[in-house]
Amino acid sequence: MVNIQNLFDDAKCFQTVRDLRWPDGVLCPSCGSTAVVKNGRDDTQPDRQRYECRSCRKRFDDLTGTVFAGHHQPLRTWIACLYLMGLNLSGLQIARELGIDKSDARAMLTTLRQGIVDRTPPESLSGEVECDEVYVVAGHKGHPEAVQKKGGMADDDA
Ligand SMILES: [Zn+2]
Repeated sequence: MVNIQNLFDDAKCFQTVRDLRWPDGVLCPSCGSTAVVKNGRDDTQPDRQRYECRSCRKRFDDLTGTVFAGHHQPLRTWIACLYLMGLNLSGLQIARELGIDKSDARAMLTTLRQGIVDRTPPESLSGEVECDEVYVVAGHKGHPEAVQKKGGMADDDA
C-alpha cells in the first residue's frame, strides 16, 4: 500500500504552512511586525525556517503559534491530513491512509477544523487575580439631595 505521506516533500510542507499563515509575507507572531529577518534553520528539521523580529527581538519559526507546533506527528502527517480532509474522508479512513491511530486522527481533525493558527492565548492569568472595586451610583431613588450631600462631604474631607 502506498502511504501518501511518503510522497510529500518536507520543504513543500513548510512552504505550504508559510503560504497558509502568511499569505502577504512573514509577520512576527508576537507583535505583528513585518520587519522580520531569517535566522537560520531548525537543528533537526532543515526545512523549518527560523526568524528574528527586528521590532521586538523575539525569535520564532515557521510553526511558532500554529497548531502544528509541539506535536509528535511530523508536519508531513498534518499536511497529508489536511489534504485528506479536503477529500471528505472520514476520521477512520484518514487514520488508515496515514497509518496512525484513529484517536490520533480524530484529535488532528478536531484541531485542524479550528484553523492552523493557534487561537489559544499564550499566557493565562494564574494565582490571585484582583479587580479594583467599582462604585456605581445606580440612581437617586427620589433623594437627589442625598447624593448631592455625599459629594459635598467628600469635598469637605479633601
Ligand atoms: Zn515582533
